[in-house]
Amino acid sequence: MSTQSRSAPTHVGMDQFKVADNQLVIGGIPLRQLAARVGQTPFYAYDRNLIQQRIRDLRNALPASIKIHFAMKANPMPAVVGLMTNLVDGIDVASAGELKIALDAGANPREISFAGPGKRQTELRQAVASGVLVNIESVREIDELVEIGRELNLKPRVAIRVNPDFELKGSGMKMGGGPKQFGIDAEALPEILHQIGQSNLSFEGFHLFAGSQNLSADSICEAQRKSYELACRLASDAPAPIRFLNLGGGFGIPYFPGEKRLDLEPIGNNLADIAAKAKVDFPEAEIVIELGRYLVGEAGIYVAEVIDRKISRGQTFLVINGGLNHHLSASGNFGQVIRKNYPVAIGNKVGLANGEAVSVVGPLCTPLDLLADKMPLPEAERGDIFVIFQSGAYGASASPQNFLGHPPVAEVLV
Ligand SMILES: *Cc1c(COP(=O)(O)O)cnc(C)c1O
Repeated sequence: MSTQSRSAPTHVGMDQFKVADNQLVIGGIPLRQLAARVGQTPFYAYDRNLIQQRIRDLRNALPASIKIHFAMKANPMPAVVGLMTNLVDGIDVASAGELKIALDAGANPREISFAGPGKRQTELRQAVASGVLVNIESVREIDELVEIGRELNLKPRVAIRVNPDFELKGSGMKMGGGPKQFGIDAEALPEILHQIGQSNLSFEGFHLFAGSQNLSADSICEAQRKSYELACRLASDAPAPIRFLNLGGGFGIPYFPGEKRLDLEPIGNNLADIAAKAKVDFPEAEIVIELGRYLVGEAGIYVAEVIDRKISRGQTFLVINGGLNHHLSASGNFGQVIRKNYPVAIGNKVGLANGEAVSVVGPLCTPLDLLADKMPLPEAERGDIFVIFQSGAYGASASPQNFLGHPPVAEVLV
């Protein structure tokens, strides 16, 4: 029993959703009714008002001249991408598949940029034909884009994704600094910029992305400053004026006990300094930040049904009808080093006293399929609804849905 009484979780309050009659309400609809509307559990539900509110708050905190892009790999549901095209200044895609979703959703090709370490020739061709900005990550891509430009009689729009000579400190995932498969090493750029200047490519600027899931405003500000300084140094070799400067993102959301929401104020001040400098250094440039998780993560929940309740040697297990096949992140197998519990609830018993510490598991035949480990929750039984918060990013599309042949998860934007 000692494990059950161990320190109560201190998750950040999941206060973004209303509760009525002990039921979670999402998009104005009580959970049971929403489940009936969707026609099945499990499903993901994303609240469009929360997404809109998040972007409004962000715009209020940042200087007006800073452009906000949505990195759609965080949530590529077509309806979400469609909503985003009306709310943000651009969509960042990382494959031809994502490019198609963005274009179909009505995103302006001039405001789409395409990054990714292994862009295939067919994907580069689709990007050039679409008129989107390609963030070049290797010399091979330069050669292929030159060829494609000739063949299609178009001037491919390019920026260079730079592998910076620093890291984003304290990131959940580091994606720049040191040896990396992303971007081109900053040291190699002068020669490559010269090569681009001699070609049929239209050079527009730089893309720097140092890391992801960061909750330290100081670290983010430092990375933005260093990115800006690096861009200034690199720009002296640029073949054309800088028109596009993507300083990355990395804004995190709280998932685990003790984590707090990111403080936007210092980031807003920092970007105001950078924007003022950029007016002088790069008068033609758009300064962009690209965010995925931060825009959508807190607006989404995962909803599944309790199908069994069993006790094994004193430990209570709730078995639900979906697991890591739908929500790999919550199982701790998507980039976590030590497994920690996501914030969860019994969605039709919110506010009731916690009766027991339970382990919530999915239906898969693997001990990895664990969604909550000995979490204090109100007593739940078959038919109750289990909810995982902070599930609007890296959910359905980041999970191995075919693993073990269970039905796919539904998604709804309300
Ligand atoms: C994944 C990715 C993002 C989005 O990261 P988040 O942590 O979801 O904000 C942005 N830019 C690039 C280049 C990425 O690869």
